[in-house]
Amino acid sequence: AKREGRNRYSFFEVGMDETLRMRKIVEEDLRHALQRDEVKVVYQPQFSADGRKILGVEALVRWTHPVHGAISPADFIPVAEQRGLIGPLGEYVLRRACQDGRRWKNITVAVNVSPVQFRQKDFVSTVARIVQEEEMDPARVELELTEGVLVDDADAAENAMMELRALGLRFALDDFGTGYSSLIYLRRFAFDKIKIDRSFLESMETTGESAILVHSCVHLGRALGLTVTAEGVETAEQQRFLQAVGCHQLQGFLFCKPVSPEKIDELLGLVADE
Ligand code: C2E
Ligand code: CA
Ligand code: CA
Ligand code: CA
Repeated sequence: AKREGRNRYSFFEVGMDETLRMRKIVEEDLRHALQRDEVKVVYQPQFSADGRKILGVEALVRWTHPVHGAISPADFIPVAEQRGLIGPLGEYVLRRACQDGRRWKNITVAVNVSPVQFRQKDFVSTVARIVQEEEMDPARVELELTEGVLVDDADAAENAMMELRALGLRFALDDFGTGYSSLIYLRRFAFDKIKIDRSFLESMETTGESAILVHSCVHLGRALGLTVTAEGVETAEQQRFLQAVGCHQLQGFLFCKPVSPEKIDELLGLVADE
């Protein structure tokens, strides 16, 4: 309990100051970070269940502050959302993902979309414009949405998804299983993929219950004709289990951490040579 509590300890004891300090840094510097080239996009490969083939990559944003070093997206995305910076940030990531993804011929490039970004009036037209400008095949662009996107104004969300689907884009429901009404969203919205949240895998080896939940999610996804991806796969034991229950795609440190676009070039070259 002591070890598990360590992060939490720092969060509660110095967490408040840290959070405020972080917020100030982000507010003041993120705007310029985009212009100053401090923001980069890395990619984590998504593998076939046997771990042999790269089927896609997920774009993940990185910010290296010149003074404070690496700042986690979990820390700066929420501030960007609150300060009206998520639009420019999201557009930057999508554009880079299209520029890089263009040369990765047969795989999908997944991009995370913040609920705030998704709800902006010009979201659909902005995405359409960037994909077209970068001459990326829209069918290889996968937008990862969380339930939060769908909750507030379901009609607007449905319309935006339909318009983008009409252009050929695909959708993944991220962090599946962590919300309360995932099942309803799966019925109502046209997703191509669900991503089983990492938190289920974390406890999978120790408790039988999580394994049952994961198994059920995989079955459900498959029954609905969706691609099922598990994220946060860290052990060979998890891989064996996920493969055995029919999970299609695996993503996690066991296979590859998020890497530079150049490294993805290399990995795809190696795969092609096999
Ligand atoms: P997410 O979309 O659920 O992304 C998966 C996170 O899990 C990433 O953290 C990834 O590095 C991490 N991860 C992957 N495999 C493993 C593993 O085997 N073990 C563990 N412990 N972690 C693993 P990251 O890059 O720090 O991103 C955190 C969150 O920040 C993301 O969660 C996503 O919600 C958000 N985010 C990242 N990039 C973007 C972006 O470009 N736009 C938006 N809107 N959000 C982003
Ligand atoms: Ca994601
Ligand atoms: Ca996720
Ligand atoms: Ca997450």
